[in-house]
Amino acid sequence: MIKCPNCTGELTFSPKDQEVVCQYCGSKFNPKELKARVKMAGEKKEKKEEKNQVEGKSYTCSQCGATLLTFDETAITFCSYCGSQAMIESKMMKINKPDFIIPFSKTKEQCEMAYKKKLSGAWFTPSYMKSDITIQKFRGIYIPYAIYKLEHHGQTSNKGSKYSHRSGDYVYYDDYTILAYVDASYEGISYDLISKFYDKYSTAIPYNFKKKEDFNPNYLIGYYADAGDVDSTTYDKDALKVTENDITKRLKSNSTFHKYGCSNPTMSLDVTERKTGMFPVYFLAIKNKENERINYAIVNGQTGQVVADLPISFGKYVIGSLVLALIIFILIDNMITLTPTNVTFFSIAASLMSFIISNKQASQINNHENHINDKGYKSIDKTKKRNKYGTFKYIWKEIISVIIPTTVLIVNPVKDMYYYGASLISLLFVLLSFYDLVKEHNILTTSKPPQLEKRGGDEREK
Ligand SMILES: [Zn+2]
Ligand SMILES: [Zn+2]
Repeated sequence: MIKCPNCTGELTFSPKDQEVVCQYCGSKFNPKELKARVKMAGEKKEKKEEKNQVEGKSYTCSQCGATLLTFDETAITFCSYCGSQAMIESKMMKINKPDFIIPFSKTKEQCEMAYKKKLSGAWFTPSYMKSDITIQKFRGIYIPYAIYKLEHHGQTSNKGSKYSHRSGDYVYYDDYTILAYVDASYEGISYDLISKFYDKYSTAIPYNFKKKEDFNPNYLIGYYADAGDVDSTTYDKDALKVTENDITKRLKSNSTFHKYGCSNPTMSLDVTERKTGMFPVYFLAIKNKENERINYAIVNGQTGQVVADLPISFGKYVIGSLVLALIIFILIDNMITLTPTNVTFFSIAASLMSFIISNKQASQINNHENHINDKGYKSIDKTKKRNKYGTFKYIWKEIISVIIPTTVLIVNPVKDMYYYGASLISLLFVLLSFYDLVKEHNILTTSKPPQLEKRGGDEREK
């Protein structure tokens, strides 16, 4: 227990007060002025002691291998990444002291409210995601981030080309080289250093880096922290790309550059500074009861922004579509007469729509399941195993439901029976493919439990 200097009661950092508060006597302390309550460690240099590490009690999840730290007497009873209750308390663990910290400024209650609000309009979301038991499991975790500073002070050169004149069969263009002096400075471009924290979530909840503080361990009291497993240089190229793109965009929107049809500028950019920080997140992993995968709900502990996986409940989907089908049927019945050709066209239109969505989802599933755009994950993925998700698996039902009615339209039989028969079969496959669409959506809005992706040779276990 981290003790209050006045009464030896339990201390925690309060996001509401931005102070360390005693749970017993109510004393408040400025975290910057309070003597570090969390153990700091480091090399002893001659006289001056350089404290460059923070020590906490570590808990490792025996299911997915995640390691979380606490800095007070709080025991970690379940894993925030996979929901498993098999947390093994292990030795004290030291993590490198980060340069900055963004303290929690939203309370757990505010986080729960923000999440509830996000889900209030999501009718098709399974009820277990909205239950109080689930929502109580949000935990505040400090996540390590790499923070970049990039500068460009100097010349950039753009190549441009502009129509000059025409002479006979020839069109002449003048080429230009346009030089510009760019004075740009970017600070606070940041990337999370945890492979289990998918980049698609971290990019959805950006932080306001201006409200950072110099790191002080007192901010950690009452929260978990993740030691991180991604190397802090992993995102060098991405940070360069972000700044380069921004400079390019600004230059090209300039009227002169625009007039001469300028190409992208050439410039030399370098990472000026790479630091690390701890950023606050409320994390919740929910086991999806239909496909045994994990839904994540994540709330930014600074801004209160929510990113949550919203799968569709099959039960709610069936009821919803029946109601919708009834309404559509009544509308159509009043507007157009149901001729055999109309019905056939309707089924073709429905299957084409399903075809387009399914095709798109198939490629998204491939990206999601293989972490195609997830640099942090890929940087520590040693197996490099990829499962190819072929598109055909997802669209064969749509193909059947288009081919059958189209053939009937081409053959153009005399009897109406053929039209109705073809439409009936087609619509049946359309219904099956809609069912698949929901299934695909639920793959996209859930993730494989991290234990299935557990990689061999975690360096932290050595
Ligand atoms: Zn006290
Ligand atoms: Zn776990």
